[in-house]
Amino acid sequence: VKKKAGKYEKQAKAVKQAAVLGAGIMGGGIAYQSASKGTPILMKDIKEEAIELGLKESRKLFAKQVERGKLSTELMAEKLTHIRPTLSYGDFGHVDLVVEAVVENPKVKDAVLTEVEGLVGEDTILTSNTSTISITRLAQNLKRPENFCGMHFFNPVHRMPLVEVIRGEKTGDAAVAATVAYARAMGKTPIVVNDCPGFLVNRVLFPYFGGFSLLVEQGADFQRVDKVMEKFGWPMGPAYLLDVVGMDTAVHANEVMAEGFPDRMARDAKTAIQVMYENERLGQKNDKGFYAYE
Ligand code: NAD
Repeated sequence: VKKKAGKYEKQAKAVKQAAVLGAGIMGGGIAYQSASKGTPILMKDIKEEAIELGLKESRKLFAKQVERGKLSTELMAEKLTHIRPTLSYGDFGHVDLVVEAVVENPKVKDAVLTEVEGLVGEDTILTSNTSTISITRLAQNLKRPENFCGMHFFNPVHRMPLVEVIRGEKTGDAAVAATVAYARAMGKTPIVVNDCPGFLVNRVLFPYFGGFSLLVEQGADFQRVDKVMEKFGWPMGPAYLLDVVGMDTAVHANEVMAEGFPDRMARDAKTAIQVMYENERLGQKNDKGFYAYE
């Protein structure tokens, strides 16, 4: 069920300082996109290596723009200062909106969200970039659930225009309005959707991944399936897309979907995607998935 994004914008509080929790594939991409469009952002992780990787990726993306003549080196240096990497919550007291982008695990997300809620101001909007976990469920342990909603970006963040803004049962209009406005300030197209496992896009995408997995389990050649789906008109096939998404993220997301829609999504047998995950073929994040990367 879609709600028009436009109606919320008039009431929106401007986001002057943002923060992202997690500097992984998504957190790093969100930090780059925010900085690139001029909203300063704190990028927090628990691992130094993750922060370095996140920053390296941003430098690479800015450098590409410089190469193409779309950005001067001076402006690139300025935009890079908009990303403030950190391992601590030191400056979170002045943040207008937080995007949580840590691993797709409800327990980890609960811990991180309650921790950050205790440190930010009373009006700070908290959002989660979860792919599948219900926003109403994630709001359960929060003291100010009215300030919380989903802000679901797609991978790679700098290329994918859509952002799902998810309204949980207790989400207030002000949270939706600020999140919609921030998505627009980042150059994205927000849509406001109601809460359910997988929201809108992943409710369509994960059954598709399931269908692909079953084909592979029955002996199909994944490269041929990819080629066929490209000919069908998709920009990339399911195997390549799974490598981009990450097998770990896909497995965790699928578990949540199976819990929400057991009759349609649950499977007794181990899926090809689970087997890939157990064999540490995570995709592009560790250079080996369905394909090998260098
Ligand atoms: P990732 O594994 O690349 O990154 C997760 C990061 O979170 C890691 O760097 C990890 O060190 C960090 N982290 C873990 N605990 C933390 C904590 N307590 N505080 C701060 N950082 C912490 O994962 P990802 O693919 O970027 O996914 C992140 C979220 O975005 C998940 O909820 C996922 O479902 C969602 N998402 C992923 C995709 C995708 O295609 N990968 C797309 C849309 C949404």
